Amino acid sequence: MNIILFGPPGAGKGTQAKYLVTKLNSFQISTGDMLRNEIQNDTEIGKMIINDMNEGKFISDEIVNKLIKNVVQDPQKKNKLIFDGYPRSLSQAKNLDILLEHSKQKIDFIFFLNVDKETIIARIKKRKVLEKRSDDDLDTILKRYDTYMETTKPVLDFYSKNSNFYEIDGSQKIDQITNKISSFFNL
Ligand code: AMP
Repeated sequence: MNIILFGPPGAGKGTQAKYLVTKLNSFQISTGDMLRNEIQNDTEIGKMIINDMNEGKFISDEIVNKLIKNVVQDPQKKNKLIFDGYPRSLSQAKNLDILLEHSKQKIDFIFFLNVDKETIIARIKKRKVLEKRSDDDLDTILKRYDTYMETTKPVLDFYSKNSNFYEIDGSQKIDQITNKISSFFNL
């Protein structure tokens, strides 16, 4: 089973991805984590992306597609892919289709966790009180939300025509979202 979790920052993709990894004995494919690893290991790619990552900017399709290629073609992970944060642009979505086709795989489910801006603001404010985070968190995250919505609109249009595309209300509680997703697999 290959699944794409799609949605803005703060929608809970990571949390749901971890749940699915355990339940479906599969692998979380987070491009955000992969890019952070490159920076941590101070690789060539890491050096190239560090500034853009810190500013919350999108990393080039070329770099992200290169990182994804090995994962999709890894025989151990075949049909056990839970995509979290990829694809985020139309070029990435088309690239993924080609990679999957070459390795005789397909996407079984696309879940769009939709969250409005007000919910994101409420979540961040709550977290700020609990974790005493600094003020500019809200600005940065809202900027990332806007960029995400703008850049991923074509991806949304691309996928929403598919019969395996499902929009889920991401403003619900974590458990409610998990239950909704579980209902598709008899988990
Ligand atoms: P995330 O952990 O998914 O929120 O991603 C953190 C950051 O990594 C984003 O703000 C982007 O700078 C970068 N990033 C992650 N995934 C992608 C992607 N598929 N395409 C471009 N940039 C990405």
